[in-house]
Amino acid sequence: MRVIKFGGSSLANAQRFLAVSDIITNKSKQSALAVVVSAPQGITNHLVALTENLAEGEELKSGMDHLLTAINHIFDGLDSADCYFNRQHAEQALKRWTNQLQRWLEGAAMLAYCPDHIRACVISLGERLSVAILESLLQTDEQKVTVLEPELFLKTNETPLNAVADMVLCRQLFNETYNKLERISIMPGFIGSNQSGQVTTLGRNGSDYSAAVLSVCANAECCEIWTDVDGVFNADPRLIKDAKLLDHLSYKEAMELSYFGAKVLHPKTIGPIAQHHIPCLIKNTTNPEAKGTLISNEDKGLKKVKAISNLDELTMINVSGPGMKGMVGMASRVFACMSRENVSLVMISQSSSEYCISFCVYSHDAYRAQQSLQQEFELELLNQLLEPIELQSHLSIVSLVGDGMHQQRGVAAKLFSSLAQARVNVIAIAQDSSERSISVVIEQRKCTDALKVCHQNFFSRRQTIDAFVVGCGVVGSELLQQISRQQQHLIEQNIDLKVYGIANSKGIGFNPEGIDLDNWQQGMQADVKAFSVDSLKTFARANHLINPVIVDCTSDEGLAMTYADFLAEGFHIVTPNKKANTDSWQYYLKLRENAAKTNRLFLYETNVGAGLPVIDTLQNLFKAGDELVQFEGVLSGSLSYIFGKLDEGMSLSEATEIAKSNGFTEPDPRDDLSGMDVARKLLIMAREAGMPLELNHIKVESVLPSDFDDSGSIDDFMARLPELNPVFADKIEQAASEGKVLRYVGSITNGKCQVSIEAVDASHPLYAIKDGENALAILSRYYQPIPLVLRGYGAGAAVTAAGVFGDLLRTQAWKQEM
Ligand code: ADP
Ligand code: ASP
Ligand code: MG
Repeated sequence: MRVIKFGGSSLANAQRFLAVSDIITNKSKQSALAVVVSAPQGITNHLVALTENLAEGEELKSGMDHLLTAINHIFDGLDSADCYFNRQHAEQALKRWTNQLQRWLEGAAMLAYCPDHIRACVISLGERLSVAILESLLQTDEQKVTVLEPELFLKTNETPLNAVADMVLCRQLFNETYNKLERISIMPGFIGSNQSGQVTTLGRNGSDYSAAVLSVCANAECCEIWTDVDGVFNADPRLIKDAKLLDHLSYKEAMELSYFGAKVLHPKTIGPIAQHHIPCLIKNTTNPEAKGTLISNEDKGLKKVKAISNLDELTMINVSGPGMKGMVGMASRVFACMSRENVSLVMISQSSSEYCISFCVYSHDAYRAQQSLQQEFELELLNQLLEPIELQSHLSIVSLVGDGMHQQRGVAAKLFSSLAQARVNVIAIAQDSSERSISVVIEQRKCTDALKVCHQNFFSRRQTIDAFVVGCGVVGSELLQQISRQQQHLIEQNIDLKVYGIANSKGIGFNPEGIDLDNWQQGMQADVKAFSVDSLKTFARANHLINPVIVDCTSDEGLAMTYADFLAEGFHIVTPNKKANTDSWQYYLKLRENAAKTNRLFLYETNVGAGLPVIDTLQNLFKAGDELVQFEGVLSGSLSYIFGKLDEGMSLSEATEIAKSNGFTEPDPRDDLSGMDVARKLLIMAREAGMPLELNHIKVESVLPSDFDDSGSIDDFMARLPELNPVFADKIEQAASEGKVLRYVGSITNGKCQVSIEAVDASHPLYAIKDGENALAILSRYYQPIPLVLRGYGAGAAVTAAGVFGDLLRTQAWKQEM
């Protein structure tokens, strides 16, 4: 004999009833079956609402009609299907039960109170109707079915709405009552009866427990729970898209998981079947081929952590105060009080000073618990030996579960670093001495984030990067193309890099699924929202993005001034924009301070030397105790190009024109020619070396002579530029006569930073630097007398975008850097 239970989700409509009936018919060919059914999905909720409203007259009628409509809808579906369905039998049962229901509800409305044993009868009516429907599908002249009445054997304690079965009595009564069963028996789940024969219910979702009790009574070889998912997953599949199906769980693991919120099994289910070593199989009604999850004795192929669960709608109660310290019997009074009120304690923790006992209860019990504690400790509260009883609501418990966690080091550490990564604050912690589960209490609004990161770190190893790209000019659009090209490769490396938002000067276009990078321009035309720290924060929260990164590809100063806020809100920042790092020294420090506080990264490798590894190299050197002695370099790709062309005899205006049209200069070439761009880079280098300088401390010799009029539009400026050609031709000629060339050089000597046009001879390392190349010669405590030289192409969108891309990828490894 096998017990086979179908939950409400498997009985949601006519199609599901038919699928269930097929499964029963097929399986009954191999083994005798005792089928346990829940109410059709949604019906119990409706019945509960009827007991809470206690309406009369028209309102009651409309409530009843709602129920009738739902059930008749199932009848109609079965009637029109190509199958046997004894509608008359089903309708008689419906009539009988709804008449009864009406009497109960009218009686309760008259009393303005629904006693618990009546409530139990009302809310379990859906199960009776499921039995009637299934009986009408399965009972034919050839095939008889036995309907099992739980009231006759499933004896429970006196807790009418959350009853616990008396297993010894249940077995005895079952054997006395049902010594001969048909091949198929059907029983309504959720229902029991107390010693005086009144109906009790086994708690919401309790039909699983009915199946477990019946399995023990009937000595079943297996207890099958059929539901709407393929089995037990390593996290709630509604919240974690890539949750993995578990083949096998031990009883103890299943017990912990269900207790800590995995709704797929009612927590009371495992006790009886574990005690009698009955295997339990979780199967999917909509996918009967799937293997399902087997719950049985201990699994030897131990994984450390098997699954994560979450339990929501909890409230934490704190009983604390100076009167608690060392006072014998406080804990027992607190817990006795909860027991009297029938409040179940989900988790308990006590501080070592005994000053505070904290425990979690279901939120619907919290007020009752508080009232009762206030009564119990009235005197202590009055005399201020206790602080007022505090409630903290909207909490969740997240638990890691696995037999293999026993005596394993590092699991808790990984849990807590994952929670830190998800920026979740831990309110309380509990681990039992079996080390089979570790639980943390956190704010419920953070629960999905916590689950996501824990699942990622414990199971999938897939790191996510949730990018928002700001600015779709040359660098931004090149970056988007590069990301798109690399997608396949990234997936192979277990990196899930998605761009969730792209912003331009008009605003930001979001897509919660990630933007299609081959067609991103379209999204930018449709639904564009205002760009702000708040709009991004709201989006990231709503979509539970756990590793959000702002990629600023603009050179906008206003945007740079929001980095500190973005970092404080938990975003990483990746940017080639130099404006933030060259703002005040105070802001420079604040960015680093905020990043450290939230464990986020501020990455700007492309600020100096485009794609060359300058910043990282410097940071590593200085971390290892090196010190800058002297620096000299060509830091501007555009000026390297322009000055190279001057060597070749080209005029200044012509070289600038070509550099501009090739995209080597800033959109406004004056930004390059003024020397300010190089000055910013030099300042960033100096600050990396620990010098607290400001931009105005950099001595800048502009490429343009001071008496040259550089005002007006870009076109005006370009039109006027040829006036300078003779001046530069002279300078070049003079240098050439000494065997030298002109280079635009940034240098740091004795703490002084300077940007200037220098004439260098063939022996100088910068002599050969042209055509957009950058070169940096760093003399340091370790690198001398021969300097560390970094040299390579330093202009153009492709290398810059590739450098930004590299920084972006570093945000996934931040954990290791913690
Ligand atoms: P039924 O109506 O069959 O009793 P339930 O809704 O009570 O079904 O339980 C099944 C649901 O439990 C699934 O649809 C799933 O969303 C949820 N669930 C939560 N955690 C888990 C988990 N770890 N594995 C599988 N399902 C889970
Ligand atoms: N029908 C009951 C409920 O919805 C019991 C169950 O489905 O297990 O809670
Ligand atoms: Mg269920």
